[in-house]
Amino acid sequence: MADLPFFGHVIDGAEVPSLDGARFPSIDPWTREPWADVALGGQADSDRAVAAARKAFDEGPWPRMSFDERGAILHRLADLIEEHADELGLADTRDMGKPIAQSKGNDVARAAHNFRFFADHARLSVGEVLPMGDRHHTYTLFQPAGVVAAIAPWNFPLMLETWKVAPALAWGNTVVLKPAEDTPTSATILARLAIEAGMPAGVFNVVHGYGPDSAGQALTENPDVDRITFTGESGTGRIIARAGAANLVPASLELGGKGANIVFADADLDNAVDWSIRAIFTNAGQVCLAGSRLYVERSVYDEFLARFVTAAEAMVIGDPKEPTTQFGPLAGEEHYNKVRSYVESVEAEGGKILTGGLGDGWIVRPTVAVDLPDDSKHVCEEIFGPLVRVAPFDTEDEVVRAANDTPYGLNAMVFSENLSRAHRVSARLKAGTVWVNCFFIRDLRAPFGGVGDSGMGREGGNFSREFFTEPKAVVMQI
Ligand code: NAD
Repeated sequence: MADLPFFGHVIDGAEVPSLDGARFPSIDPWTREPWADVALGGQADSDRAVAAARKAFDEGPWPRMSFDERGAILHRLADLIEEHADELGLADTRDMGKPIAQSKGNDVARAAHNFRFFADHARLSVGEVLPMGDRHHTYTLFQPAGVVAAIAPWNFPLMLETWKVAPALAWGNTVVLKPAEDTPTSATILARLAIEAGMPAGVFNVVHGYGPDSAGQALTENPDVDRITFTGESGTGRIIARAGAANLVPASLELGGKGANIVFADADLDNAVDWSIRAIFTNAGQVCLAGSRLYVERSVYDEFLARFVTAAEAMVIGDPKEPTTQFGPLAGEEHYNKVRSYVESVEAEGGKILTGGLGDGWIVRPTVAVDLPDDSKHVCEEIFGPLVRVAPFDTEDEVVRAANDTPYGLNAMVFSENLSRAHRVSARLKAGTVWVNCFFIRDLRAPFGGVGDSGMGREGGNFSREFFTEPKAVVMQI
């Protein structure tokens, strides 16, 4: 086998192998062959990354720079991300099978935007002055929290990593990022670009490895870490919350979801079909926000379903490296086997598949299932794949009850041209985000996070500022 490209940790301004020389392969889910060789970190690598970040925070220039100076470096990094869009997009596509049109066109563009947005947001942010009468006033300072541990999932690698790293850096923290083991390579490229952009050594470090008994666990348990920002499964979130609690370190947790997508009879059906397809089949359904429980008002159920199935069947499935591909393989063999078991058990649970099913290799085609009971595992559990359960409903109360009948609460979608109903139902849904007549549209100033098993805390705009800083009140006698 030809030598594979190597992706190291990036610690203290240099790309390095693991201390013990360990490596692991990254598997391309389309070819199902290794395509890259990656440093496999453990406790010792995690510890030296945290030590580098600690030193850069305590002694280096980064936390003491002006917002203009830091912002200039972050904007330069955004420029470099755009210049390296092909390389970064291909890295995510080869690591996890995401179509290149999405990884390059959406995720890389959004990664650059994350750095620009948070650099500008921090620079333009204002504190409060609270006049207290003739003798005193109080004002707020937002000071960097310290060393941030960022732990990311594999479904939107670069995009979600930068969603954490950009605000943490913009507010003057230093960072150790552990990308998911399935998608390590774009993080190393990002750290190489950060060095090129002029970021001082130790400010942004990347350590690769697994979670339990590996680099991830070591990072979350390190007492020199001041903040943990985590995106991943709800079960992992519980473990990480405990690790944070042991050291009294705040943890922000963005976890799993089981999004309800509600289509009322008065919806613009073309618009509703279009967004509902994207809500469940983008990224082969490997989206925390996926609209995997689709409820359609009975009077338009048959018409909606016919159009929805036609649109699902029209998706272009194939090699994710092809620019026209809309739908690729699942991210890895273990995950494919998990999603496959849900597809294969639809009939046993009383359901019927209208279209979809298993494809070649690790592909599960866009799959539409009906007649599944409310208590089936397909309705209750996060599948994290391209399988949607569609069901009819008759009343607003009934559908709100069904939508809220889940331990998750990340997001929901409502399609209706009735303005009062759209506002009323949005307020009644248990969710961190409700999209009305759309999906996935984001304003980075808005809070993002989940209710219940979907997470703890919010990030975005001022919410990121609150999390990544120590807000301080200065009370003055005058
Ligand atoms: P995961 O929890 O298995 O892994 C996420 C990260 O945590 C990986 O980097 C992993 O190595 C690390 N990790 C695992 N165990 C750990 C431990 N004990 N200590 C420290 N680190 C540990 O999740 P995943 O399979 O990579 O991602 C899919 C999940 O992420 C889904 O549940 C999805 O809904 C969720 N997700 C949520 C959001 C959101 O914004 N709420 C966004 C994307 C994905």
